[in-house]
Amino acid sequence: MNPLPSPLTQDSKQVVRLRRFGMAALAYVIGAFLLAATWALGFMPPRPALAFGAAILAINASLYAAIRSGFNLRFEDPSLTKLQTLIAITMLMTVIYFLNDGRDLALMLCYVVLLFGVFRMKTREFIFVTLYALAGYALVINMLMWLRPQAIHNVYLEWLSWLMLASVLPLFGMVGGKLSALRVKLRGSNRELSSALETIQQMATRDGLTGLYNRTMFMETLRHALVRAARGHAPLTLFFIDADRFKVVNDTLGHAAGDRVLREIATRISRCVRASDIVARLGGDEFVVLLEDVHPHAQLESIARKIIQAASQPLDVDGHEVVVSVSVGIASAPRDGADEHALLRNADLAMYRAKEQGRNGFSFYVKQMDEPSEERLALAAELRRAAERGELRLYYQPKVDISSARVTGAEALLRWEHPRLGLLAPGRFISIAEDTGLIVPIGRWVLRHACSQARQWAERHGLRLQVAVNLSPRQFRDQSLVADLDEILRETRLPPSQLELEITESLVMQQPEKAAVQMAQVRELGVGLAMDDFGTGYSSLGFLKRFPVTSVKIDRAFVRDLPHNADDVAICRAVIAMAHSLRLTVVAEGVESAEQAQFLGREGCEEYQGYFCSPPVPEARFLELARASGPARQRMLA
Ligand code: C2E
Ligand code: MG
Ligand code: MG
Repeated sequence: MNPLPSPLTQDSKQVVRLRRFGMAALAYVIGAFLLAATWALGFMPPRPALAFGAAILAINASLYAAIRSGFNLRFEDPSLTKLQTLIAITMLMTVIYFLNDGRDLALMLCYVVLLFGVFRMKTREFIFVTLYALAGYALVINMLMWLRPQAIHNVYLEWLSWLMLASVLPLFGMVGGKLSALRVKLRGSNRELSSALETIQQMATRDGLTGLYNRTMFMETLRHALVRAARGHAPLTLFFIDADRFKVVNDTLGHAAGDRVLREIATRISRCVRASDIVARLGGDEFVVLLEDVHPHAQLESIARKIIQAASQPLDVDGHEVVVSVSVGIASAPRDGADEHALLRNADLAMYRAKEQGRNGFSFYVKQMDEPSEERLALAAELRRAAERGELRLYYQPKVDISSARVTGAEALLRWEHPRLGLLAPGRFISIAEDTGLIVPIGRWVLRHACSQARQWAERHGLRLQVAVNLSPRQFRDQSLVADLDEILRETRLPPSQLELEITESLVMQQPEKAAVQMAQVRELGVGLAMDDFGTGYSSLGFLKRFPVTSVKIDRAFVRDLPHNADDVAICRAVIAMAHSLRLTVVAEGVESAEQAQFLGREGCEEYQGYFCSPPVPEARFLELARASGPARQRMLA
């Protein structure tokens, strides 16, 4: 059973009150010693002295009990200061009554009692206590005159003492009251001052909209963290996060809505990291996260994915469903930048790369991003002639049917055989092709080449295999896509069902309505549509239902840690269940082990791609692989 919370734990002020009571009790202890001395010196008979001792004990015990039990909280002044002074005056007057001698000395204690009220009682209360003391002493003198006349040596002297008390005590009380009032004022201005200080500090270090660190504070924090990291030889990582097309939200829904979206993004980002990680808003729609612990690459990837996933969940703004995705750039010190400016710049560069790659994704900083723009321009110029010079190649990565282990087709992946730089992967040049618009003619070349080769596989080698071609955002938006496709299929005489186009979620979400129309036209031709890198973006059943896709490719980020990572297991199961409920085929990307393939097979995933079967290879090698995998699949298709 839990103990009931005591009033002491409920209210920390009670602790202060108890401490103050302790001080008053100490005064009583001193009083008790004085009492003993008066008795020993014969100024007071023993019985009243003993009775006072007992009264002191009883009073203090009850006051202590009152504060401990919280009984004091029922009073207007829970410190019970006025009550305590009244009790003390009463006690004092009673003692004075019983004293045979030295009454004027004892009267001095009235000042001591009043001192306890300084800082606590108002002037009015002081006057009240003063009058109470004066009335008490007048009563004592009268009682002495009537009941113990032998204790009075000179009655005028007693009244003179009373007069002195009457002329000084009220003054003392007023000064005390003024001091109390001053203290209250001082406290008020102190409070104002500290809240003003807090506001100033907040304004200087925090972002007004989200309450996160602002740029100044963040750069300072980053600088310190870098020094610490250098001393401890520990890396630290910076995530640069930028909302995709945030301007559209501002322009269409207004700035107030934009602000709300930014606040929500801030909250979502903060939820994806630990409380000890620093999240800041640099301005506009730019956020940063600083991770100080050592994180393996895979973990950084999963944090980035988490942030992207969280940010892209729909949010409600004034009844409008708004979906804002983010792009994330990742840079780690000391490798990607030794000082705070270099690190931030490189994380920013990586973020731009993520945007170039279709947004709603992440990218790690690599040295090439730093290449001077002339190098990029040179590459762009060379790329323009690459097709004419025959430097572009298509590699093929087999798609494998999990249950039969037969090759069912291939994904065509572009390579550039650069005369100077060697074989370049698409990561090096696709973004340049996108930026310059070259992607449209290059993409057309890829389509024509892939279709004509697939046609030859059937004609020359008797292998009826499907071929998948990746489409970039720009290519997909191109109005002539459907006409081009139709023409290429006619020219190459490839049955449309043997061609599949791979598009990404972010590409579709850039203009969902237009995309849906374009996709429907592609489907009318009889060409398949695969949702590539599925799981990194919107990934909902509603999303899949909205667009006429024929298959879903689970992103390799979710496959890599199968079957050991419980989150990835859950995500793969969910994607498979979702896709199957819409009668879509599921392909897993990046399968590198038998264990992964078996797990995916058990879960009902139909096909896989990955190094476990083969990396992307030149056509001849691919045909060998397809032939070796056996003819059963071709019979099925025929
Ligand atoms: P993607 O469509 O997701 O292609 C799969 C990528 O994963 C390929 O990289 C492939 O080499 C890699 N991969 C396949 N299996 C494994 C595996 O088991 N483990 C690992 N770690 N990786 C694996 P690649 O060829 O560098 O292509 C990168 C991206 O470039 C592609 O991603 C695609 O988005 C784009 N791309 C490739 N060719 C074209 C093209 O002709 N046109 C357009 N627009 N984009 C292309
Ligand atoms: Mg692909
Ligand atoms: Mg993919």
